[in-house]
Amino acid sequence: MNQPSLSYDFLTATLQDQPPVAREWPLANGVTARWRERGILELVPPQLDDHTDRVLISCGVHGNETAPIEVANGILRDIEQGRLPLAVHLLLMFGNPDAMQAGERYLDYDMNRLFNGQHAKHPATREAQRAAVLENAAAAFFEQAPNGCQRLHYDLHTAIRGSVFERFAIYPYLHERDYNREQLCWLESADITTVLLHSQPAATFTYYTSRHCQTDALTLELGKARPFGQNDLSRFEGINQALRRLLSGQRDPLPAFANERFQLFRAKYDLVKHSDQFRLYLHDQVENFTLLEDGFVIAEDQDVRYQAHGGNERILFPNPKVGNGLRAGIVIEPVAI
Ligand SMILES: [Zn+2]
Repeated sequence: MNQPSLSYDFLTATLQDQPPVAREWPLANGVTARWRERGILELVPPQLDDHTDRVLISCGVHGNETAPIEVANGILRDIEQGRLPLAVHLLLMFGNPDAMQAGERYLDYDMNRLFNGQHAKHPATREAQRAAVLENAAAAFFEQAPNGCQRLHYDLHTAIRGSVFERFAIYPYLHERDYNREQLCWLESADITTVLLHSQPAATFTYYTSRHCQTDALTLELGKARPFGQNDLSRFEGINQALRRLLSGQRDPLPAFANERFQLFRAKYDLVKHSDQFRLYLHDQVENFTLLEDGFVIAEDQDVRYQAHGGNERILFPNPKVGNGLRAGIVIEPVAI
């Protein structure tokens, strides 16, 4: 049997759970492909030294968020066929292949609530097993990174609902580390200037790699989720081109960071659904980042009342349909760094 080659379609093979016939094979321009697991492909550039940056691009952690999968697959295709040179050590992940195949956000449990060890609490779910696989693959990839290199992770998503700011990023909680302003400026080069700075640990993939693999990691919300083939990929050109510049080693100098060019927010508190009596007083179609008027009662749950203060707060990820004990939304407020 022949080695997998340019005709080997990694996305199709991932969806159909068909491993390649060899674990390693050459691509155009001296790039080597290494199959790690279903949906996890390592691409080794022709020039590798102690300063070669390591980049993890993940998508499909939510299986129905198809546009990022199409963007990542387009990049992979162009590397394979020699249209895009590779100057970084790249790990590409299609997060949840079974959910992708089904066209669903998830099958048993939201996978982006199962990282950072949370998978051990839900062992019977298919997503828990997969989250553990992704964590191990990321840890192994960054463990071998030389000290002098950058470690970057971009986890690409699209959101369930519309957004006042169409594209935004979530910067995981950094504990004692400072924000990497260069990363924020890189985001700006991808047409993303709205950023939520998380204020506490989370069970997300980017929190895991940021905390445990010392990456500069960002969750990117790139627009609204639509089925395969129904995406207007022109709306994703900012991130597509920024990733291509990064991967091919085009490091154009970026302007210095200034708060004024960004809309930075911090998470103020979570709306927690404690019981079936939880009522959210926002309509079903409310967009992310909708401004909350001073005094507005956002939600009530038995004797708990969540009320907006000051007129600068906004709502993010409202979802009253979550299970009891889970987050039904985040109240955020503007911040400067
Ligand atoms: Zn998502």
